[in-house]
Amino acid sequence: MQRPMVLVVEDEAPLVTLLRYNLEKEGFAVNEAHDGEEALMHLRESKPDAVLLDWMLPRVSGLEICRQIRRVPAWRDLPVIMLTARGEEGDRVRGLDSGADDYIVKPFSPSELIARVRAVIRRARPSAAAEALNFSDLGMDLTAHRVARGGKPVHLGPTEFRLLRFLMERPGRVFSREQLLDGVWGRDAEVELRTVDVHIRRLRKALNGGGRADLIRTVRAAGYALDTAAH
Ligand code: CA
Repeated sequence: MQRPMVLVVEDEAPLVTLLRYNLEKEGFAVNEAHDGEEALMHLRESKPDAVLLDWMLPRVSGLEICRQIRRVPAWRDLPVIMLTARGEEGDRVRGLDSGADDYIVKPFSPSELIARVRAVIRRARPSAAAEALNFSDLGMDLTAHRVARGGKPVHLGPTEFRLLRFLMERPGRVFSREQLLDGVWGRDAEVELRTVDVHIRRLRKALNGGGRADLIRTVRAAGYALDTAAH
């Protein structure tokens, strides 16, 4: 599944970092722009599924950028969420008048932000903002953090959950231990490679209880993949 991409337009580096962290954690790809000009350039080059647009930007305001976006026919339906420190009703109205789909006042809670981003993307492209993943008889509810196999609940620790999610987002692809470490534990984690094997073993045990077919394929000298032809 292609991850939905969000273009973050914000000039304050710490906020960009925070937004990126929270969006990536929830399965979004993130592109960033630090002013209006850069934002328009990114819009032309990549095709984001949504734009998080700060009101207060150097030179051209977010409000004006939103108006410019709406003038381009191809971007008329692109979901735009305005981000602002202003909270007055008049500003809210001006923000929505400029063509924004939604409006979030700083400081915001990350979970609220994610929910709003999912909502605008879902309205624009119903299949993009997945809240559930499925593979074979496996189902993962990303909102409730629940996993089921053949309709029966599977209990996973947080690491096994993240590991399975990573694999379910990219079924059939073979990942090396290094790639799994990067993707699931993060690039900076001080974790040994064999830790991956330990968690794969736990994940298998949880998924394959009751003699069900193994869904994780071990690829000798290469790594692991989620695969219905696993043996
Ligand atoms: Ca700003």
